[in-house]
This record gives sequence, C-alpha cells and structure tokens, in this order.
Amino acid sequence: MKIKDIEPLVRPNIRSLCPYSTARDEYKGALGVFLDANESPYPSGWNRYPDPRQTALKEKLAPMKGVRPENIFFGNGSDEAIDLVFRVFCNPGKDNVVAIAPSYGMYEVAASINDVEVRKVQLGEDFSLPSDKILEECDSNTKIIFLCTPNNPSGNAFSNEEVFGILEKFGGIVVADEAYIDFCSEPSLLGSLDKYPNLIVLQTFSKARGMAALRLGLAFSNPYIIGLMSMVKYPYNINESTQRLALAALDSPIEGQVAEIVAQRGRLAEALPGFSFVEKVYPSEANFLLVKVADADGLYNHLIAEGIIVRNRSKVTGCEGCLRITVGLPEENDKLLKSLSDYEKGNICR
Ligand code: PMP
Repeated sequence: MKIKDIEPLVRPNIRSLCPYSTARDEYKGALGVFLDANESPYPSGWNRYPDPRQTALKEKLAPMKGVRPENIFFGNGSDEAIDLVFRVFCNPGKDNVVAIAPSYGMYEVAASINDVEVRKVQLGEDFSLPSDKILEECDSNTKIIFLCTPNNPSGNAFSNEEVFGILEKFGGIVVADEAYIDFCSEPSLLGSLDKYPNLIVLQTFSKARGMAALRLGLAFSNPYIIGLMSMVKYPYNINESTQRLALAALDSPIEGQVAEIVAQRGRLAEALPGFSFVEKVYPSEANFLLVKVADADGLYNHLIAEGIIVRNRSKVTGCEGCLRITVGLPEENDKLLKSLSDYEKGNICR
C-alpha cells in the first residue's frame, strides 16, 4: 500500500475540510506584543493559549521514539485518538470496522457514538489472533481493523509478524493499540511506520509513564494521516500544564519502575496458581494479570470488602470467571496475596 492509496479511505468531507486556523498558527514567534488572540494581557502563568501543535513536546519525544515529529499526534488520552480515527475515516451509517474481542471497550463505544458498525472477531480460547477470520469479516466498507497488543484484558501480545500479515493483506487502516508496550517483550511496531502507510500505532502516558491524570495519549503514523487527525481535533486539545509537565517528565527514565512492575507481575503469576480457587493465570505482557477463579463475583466482593479493587471481567465473552488484577506496589501486592489467603481459609472453613 502507498500513501496515495490512503486518500480514498478518508471521508470526503474531511478530505475537503478547511480547518480552523488559530491566532498562534499565524504567528509562531515566542517574543512580541501579542494582541492577536483576545487573551488577557496580565501574566498569570496561564493567560496565553497553549501551542496547538505541541511542537516542543513532539521534538523532544520524536528521537526518543525513533520517529520524526511529523509522525506524532497528541490527544487528550489515546481515547481522543480512537475517536478521531473514526471521524477521519468512517462515514456514519455506512462504513464498518473490525475489532478483536475481548478487547478494550472504547473501540466499540467510539464506533457507536460515530454510528459505525463494529464486527467483532472472537480471539482463540488462548486469546490467539485469528488473522484469517479477521480478514474474512472485512468488506469494501471496512475502513479500520483494531488490534490491541498487548491486549486488554487478556494481557497477551501478538507478534509483529502477525500484525504485518494483516497490514499487508488489508486495504484499509490498521490501528495497533500499544498502551501496554513498555511492559512487553515483543518490540513496538513503531519501527515499521515507514513500511506500512496504513498503520496507526497508539501509545499513552497513562500506563508506564505514570501520568493517567494528565490525559496525554499518542498516535503515530505517516505525516498525511497525522495531518488529517490534527485538522479534525479541537485546536487546543492539549492544555499548557499538560504540555509543560509532560516535557519535564521526559527527563525522568521509567525503566526502573517498569522493571519492578514486570518483576512483581512475575511474582504474582507464580503465587496465584497456588490458591485452590485459582483455575488459571493467563500469561501477561502487560501490567495486569487475567485470572480465572472458581467464583469471580464472590472473590470480587471479598476483595472489595477488604478495600482492594480489581476489575470483574467475568461477564465478558471469552473471560468467563475472570478477574483482571493490576500489578501494584510490592506492599500492595503483599496485601492482595494476604487477602487471597484469608479468602481461601474462609472458604475452606465454611
Ligand atoms: N488503550 C488501552 C488498551 C487501554 O487499556 C486504555 C486504558 N485503560 C487506553 C487505551 C486509554 O488510554 P488513555 O488513558 O491514554 O486514554
């Protein structure tokens, strides 16, 4: 696929869109008397509009990610990027997307909001990727395939080769959501952006970077797709404090925390099967574990009563009987294991 093959996939109204041009788009100098944006002239630290293009942040992050600034889109969380790919590519009431299941719930919610059909393809019993079934579900109105790797809530990652297979055979856009990539042994797909113009990779500051409250997500793709997403976004979608804090955060390495979480994940994965009520701990490449237990609702309620909140996924098709447990601090994981031990004793006594 070539960049010119992407253009016909774009909604005609977006292709011909004349985007809003901000005052700060017209004049980019840092110094001057700014009488162009109807801001307050009184300095409060926040009286000026933020950079609508997040130039400083993109320039700092690009070499860290091995991409060019033009390959980066920043969103108000990756959830904004998910919504924008629908708005850029999918004609409401006509186009469809294909998504794996079980997976992250926002693909379906964003599809519903945009009046776009979602064709869900169930992963294998071991959460393996059914590439052929995914491609079979596609028709001439399928604009996007959503993959999530490592996948939420199953925790497993798909190999780059599997994703390449889909990118090569599908004539539309492939979104690979890499929210949990920092915890994963499989390399990121970012290195393949130049080879596959139909690839959009999502990442986020919310997980390994530890800044979920800031709301900063990323989409990486070729400059044409990034340009389209940038035209459709709200002009000042990333506020000034987020830009400043994210810029400063990039000076702090995250490898130490990531290594500790991965080690704690290993510790929990080893300890959990020792409990009589644990039926299966699924292999995880993320910062959580999907755990199948004898009575998911009962255990969930026990943990809640102990002040430990996990995610009950037992009603999700393919995750019957499962709880999703985020890896916490070592002492939080101690508390979890102690509470599970109490639950086991309680159940045995009853
Ligand atoms: N993608 C996946 C797979 C997620 O699990 C989540 C959040 N749980 C997100 C995206 C959303 O990330 P953000 O906070 O950047 O909106």
